[in-house]
Amino acid sequence: MPVLVMKFGGTSVATLDRIRRAAKRVGVEVSKGYDVIVIVSAMSGETNKLVGYVNETSPMYDAREYDAVVSAGENVTAGLMALTLQEMDVPARSWQGWQVPVRTTSVHSAARIEEIPTDNINARFAQGMRVAVVAGFQGVSPEGRITTLGRGGSDTTAVAFAAAFGADRCDIYTDVDGVYTTDPRIADKARKLDRIAFEEMLELASLGAKVLQTRSVELAMRYNVKLRVLSSFEEQSDDAGTLVCSEEEIMESNVVSGIAYSRDEAKMTLISVADRPGIAAAIFGPLSEAGVNVDMIVQNISEEGRTDMTFSCPTDQVLRAEKALAAAKTRGEVNYHDLVADTNVAKVSAVGIGMRSQSGVAATMFRTLSNEGINIKVIATSEIKISVLIDRKYMELAVQALHDAFELDKVA
Ligand code: ADP
Ligand code: ASP
Ligand code: MG
Repeated sequence: MPVLVMKFGGTSVATLDRIRRAAKRVGVEVSKGYDVIVIVSAMSGETNKLVGYVNETSPMYDAREYDAVVSAGENVTAGLMALTLQEMDVPARSWQGWQVPVRTTSVHSAARIEEIPTDNINARFAQGMRVAVVAGFQGVSPEGRITTLGRGGSDTTAVAFAAAFGADRCDIYTDVDGVYTTDPRIADKARKLDRIAFEEMLELASLGAKVLQTRSVELAMRYNVKLRVLSSFEEQSDDAGTLVCSEEEIMESNVVSGIAYSRDEAKMTLISVADRPGIAAAIFGPLSEAGVNVDMIVQNISEEGRTDMTFSCPTDQVLRAEKALAAAKTRGEVNYHDLVADTNVAKVSAVGIGMRSQSGVAATMFRTLSNEGINIKVIATSEIKISVLIDRKYMELAVQALHDAFELDKVA
């Protein structure tokens, strides 16, 4: 029988009522003749609560134990979903990651899926089971330890299962009815897209649009998984939501297709470092070894052989970055006068494959921000995106102003 993957995010399984509602949706697909793999997240708020417990117990925690704790939320929902389906007379059972097993790398808290054997679940489908409920976000390392895939990782579990089982479709059920031109919670004028190209979705996700985890989009693109985002709160037709697909399958396209933001950015500046060959390597080598995800980098003009080096990273990695740089200074590898962290910044980005062939997007972006009196602290560009770092208090204003400036509420 054809296989369908259905993933339900935290708000879609937040209460027993919502689990019942999701299970009914699964029942509809089963009655159409699909064998269904259901991927579940933890009930909303659960993962945050578990992360809080870990941080309070041990600020510089052992990542293996972090994973042991934060993976637990999904186990509860998987069991409850299987029970709910059984109550509806749908033959179902639950699997935790290690039982499948979802084999991952051993990079704890940010592991990558390497292999998903299908024999176990397929054998059960052959015996008449109709739904395999799998706990998202988790796997098992070569050392046999529980791993997690990074926040939002259940999306990636879902796409990886769709690829492994050759599913007809991977449906991501969430609390909005598709991918929008920007976060609909920030801009009233945000418009739902019927389709979005893999590459654009990849950029939007990696620049902060948390509707899909970046890695899930990467996998869908690589294995050509038919990926759809839709609401678990509304009755759904077969063409509901947003289809993430290849560029060729898209008719309409604005130059800019979306605005993304990332609230939790920090800007760090090393004041007065020697401007000599090898200095960037001496700074960013230790940061990378310490697991700091450096994003934007700017080196200022140098004066009398010394310069300032600015970079951005997630706010929760500031402590780690400071420690790594202080250690490098002690070892005599870099010499800087001071290290200044600004944790009140946010990143706002405009994304669109149309930018490849159209100039002037950056100018419009900068003019719009200037008209709002918003100062730009750092700029980064690529072929299909422009990102700026600004004061966090202007983030929402910037998103709305850019959405208006690029007329994203209208179809081109
Ligand atoms: P889930 O718990 O179902 O995984 P998430 O909270 O991870 O849901 O992702 C859905 C949220 O993503 C939405 O509630 C919305 O606020 C946010 N979001 C950010 N950018 C976008 C966008 N461009 N389109 C739709 N949703 C977006
Ligand atoms: N529960 C995990 C998180 O909150 C994974 C997920 O929901 O995708 O990040
Ligand atoms: Mg999510």
